[in-house]
Amino acid sequence: MTDAQRTTLKNKIRAELERLARDIRALEEITRPVGNEDMDDITRMDSIINQGVNSTALAAARNRLAGLEYALKRIQDPEFGYCLECGEEIPFARLLAMPEAAYCVHCAR
Ligand SMILES: [Zn+2]
Repeated sequence: MTDAQRTTLKNKIRAELERLARDIRALEEITRPVGNEDMDDITRMDSIINQGVNSTALAAARNRLAGLEYALKRIQDPEFGYCLECGEEIPFARLLAMPEAAYCVHCAR
């Protein structure tokens, strides 16, 4: 990986972290338990289902955030960008799409 690619990737991770932090704040806001007393049964059911969907999205966003923070920490390491399994260089396009990728496409399967 060239220095320019590393910088591009770093900026990409930072931008993604900011976006995720915003998403997480928004999801935390809507998954906060609300009083259901005033709702009719259908609205209450809808609300419970939505809570589930949003909780899943929140967990996924938190996971991704942790992965990206870890990638940002590791990005200066000489072994960053190499597959942990086979040691092959992970293609830059894959890292750009998924900076937290620790395996090449082949080994990730
Ligand atoms: Zn591999």
